[in-house]
Amino acid sequence: MDNTSKIATSEICQRCAKCCKEFGEFVDYDTALRFKLLNTDKIVVEEINTNNDIFYRVTYKFPCSKLIKKRDGKYYCLLYENKEIPRPQICKGYPNNIPISLIETEKKECPALANFAKATFGSQKETKKSLTEADASKISA
Ligand code: SF4
Ligand code: SF4
Repeated sequence: MDNTSKIATSEICQRCAKCCKEFGEFVDYDTALRFKLLNTDKIVVEEINTNNDIFYRVTYKFPCSKLIKKRDGKYYCLLYENKEIPRPQICKGYPNNIPISLIETEKKECPALANFAKATFGSQKETKKSLTEADASKISA
């Protein structure tokens, strides 16, 4: 069992819907530059330097229209039961589609990733060491 299936099959997703209330994705430099020029504070562009690469993360600070909160206080995705509109692959894959070199950064966005990193790599200091060693490998969805 690889790292990917460990995240996907464990019960560490806390159903917090953080990834649906604010959506983040990694884009190329030119796309990041274009987003940065938008006159809004609802789209945030970050440059993330890892040991080997520079990544550009765009965060859309508004919720998905398909996210609903039910009376039980829990969040649900309307597309789970919808046969007409497929749920986007990026949603299906998250957080498994995060490259391992970005788990250290991305874990603040997702409690499941934070738990996964803690369970897999131990303390934050150890995580940095392990991620450096594992930088070449990626988690694929
Ligand atoms: S942010 Fe992470 S823990 Fe929260 S719902 Fe999304 S995948 Fe699950
Ligand atoms: S489509 Fe569903 S899983 Fe994807 S962001 Fe919207 S509510 Fe979340």
